[in-house]
Amino acid sequence: MNVCKRSNIDLHFMVKLVEVDGPNKKAYFVGIGEQNKDEKYEVAFDMIHVTPPQGAPDFIKNSSLANAAGWVDVDKHSLQHVRYPEIFSLGDSSGLPTSKTGAAIRKQAPVLVENILSYIAHQTLNANYDGYTSCPLVTGYGKLVLAEFDYEGKPQETFPFDQSKERWSMYILKRYVLPWLYWAKILTGKA
Ligand SMILES: Cc1cc2nc3c(=O)[nH]c(=O)nc-3n(C[C@H](O)[C@H](O)[C@H](O)COP(=O)(O)OP(=O)(O)OC[C@H]3O[C@@H](n4cnc5c(N)ncnc54)[C@H](O)[C@@H]3O)c2cc1C
Repeated sequence: MNVCKRSNIDLHFMVKLVEVDGPNKKAYFVGIGEQNKDEKYEVAFDMIHVTPPQGAPDFIKNSSLANAAGWVDVDKHSLQHVRYPEIFSLGDSSGLPTSKTGAAIRKQAPVLVENILSYIAHQTLNANYDGYTSCPLVTGYGKLVLAEFDYEGKPQETFPFDQSKERWSMYILKRYVLPWLYWAKILTGKA
């Protein structure tokens, strides 16, 4: 919010983008819910960045596995379903209140496996996911902030320096190292 104020960026809440007129640089919004829902209004833009709405697939959203928002309803620490103890979930479809990333799944996977094994062995579920996630924010050509944090928004940084600063080294990490880590190590189960 403060960054937006400093940068003279207006924030629009409780509205939904319904149309973009690219050549004339105009975006059209309607209200969400009962508030202004029939009112369509126009906003002129210089640059627009649109993120499509996120959601779990319909077969989850429309099933008894889902919470009110449509995600698999799991305990945020054990990853066990809150109503069906034999079901566990991780990844984008799970209702974990953290940013949905592959980096988060890398930390969720060992917790999920350990807890499933404990469940099968009728033991207490001791493995705990703390909400760790990682968002590589490209801030310019050759510059990146590698934000890593948990459920509380507390930094969980991997490197021994202040990761809240824009860095060329973090850009190189994202550009060259992470793709290798993903394909050679994560997908082959080595990291
Ligand atoms: C543009 C973009 C950039 C990203 N950048 C990063 C990043 O830099 N770092 C990072 O860590 N994460 C990043 N992410 C997030 C990361 O890609 C996701 O968190 C991760 O892929 C989620 O994995 P998943 O296995 O839970 O879901 P998915 O990868 O979505 O896999 C779900 C699979 O289920 C399949 N499926 C759906 N319905 C059915 C069905 N009915 N039957 C069978 N199969 C079905 C889908 O086809 C899909 O293959 C990014 C995501 C996006 C979109």
